[in-house]
Amino acid sequence: MDMKMLMDLIWNQHTYWKFIAENDKKSCPVCREFDGTVFRDDDPDFPELPLHPNCRCVLVQVK
Ligand SMILES: [Zn+2]
Repeated sequence: MDMKMLMDLIWNQHTYWKFIAENDKKSCPVCREFDGTVFRDDDPDFPELPLHPNCRCVLVQVK
């Protein structure tokens, strides 16, 4: 394998993140909708946390 192929391999590696909403009465509808959704790191819809004040949602890496 040459250097260029190696670099391609490294740069094309993506991480995947699962949105975990804090599901209680206070969680907002937006967060509940995202709950369980998996986003790739280059997803244009990748959520920027916090989504709202007092947001307790987290993104956990799944891959
Ligand atoms: Zn939230």
